[in-house]
Amino acid sequence: MSANISGGRKLKFDREGVLEQAIQVSSSNCDERPDGESITLVVIHAISLPPGEFGGDAIRRLFTNTLDCTAHPYFETLRELRVSAHFLIARGGEVVQFVPCGKRAWHAGASRYDGRDGCNDFSVGIELEGTEDVAYTDAQYEALTALVGALYERYPIADVVAHSDIAPGRKTDPGPSFDWGRVRAALRRDQTRR
Ligand SMILES: [Zn+2]
Repeated sequence: MSANISGGRKLKFDREGVLEQAIQVSSSNCDERPDGESITLVVIHAISLPPGEFGGDAIRRLFTNTLDCTAHPYFETLRELRVSAHFLIARGGEVVQFVPCGKRAWHAGASRYDGRDGCNDFSVGIELEGTEDVAYTDAQYEALTALVGALYERYPIADVVAHSDIAPGRKTDPGPSFDWGRVRAALRRDQTRR
């Protein structure tokens, strides 16, 4: 699979917020954003299925409601889940898009940012394939900073936060293994170039 978006290629979204350079896998776990809502927040998540294992297709299957819940004991806990994210960045930096940015993906759950509940209404959700105690890969940081930079150009993004920031006590991802300094430095460099 090759949809590595690093390397300085200009990223392009269409009207609906579909990223030209991403692998498209359509999820029905989404709906319309509220009328007139702006996209002002990026939420970073981490996921691995089964937990701690990388490289399979279980995340894709979970987000498209095609996961065989008998295939692993942990999957039984996911049986009734209807979730998605706009993007998944795999360990090799491949970017998969499940939901156009113009639609509301179901990634944040009960959440609050800057006094507002329901962050799915106004955010884009990005999942990193990973865990909270294993370093994310260079390819993932490159793809993430390119993607977030492109989102800043396309939408009135005001902040980038962790899922744990908007659902404290309930969520801990992307965890201590995520290097915020590295992402913020790359975004600053990106902004000075513009
Ligand atoms: Zn999360």
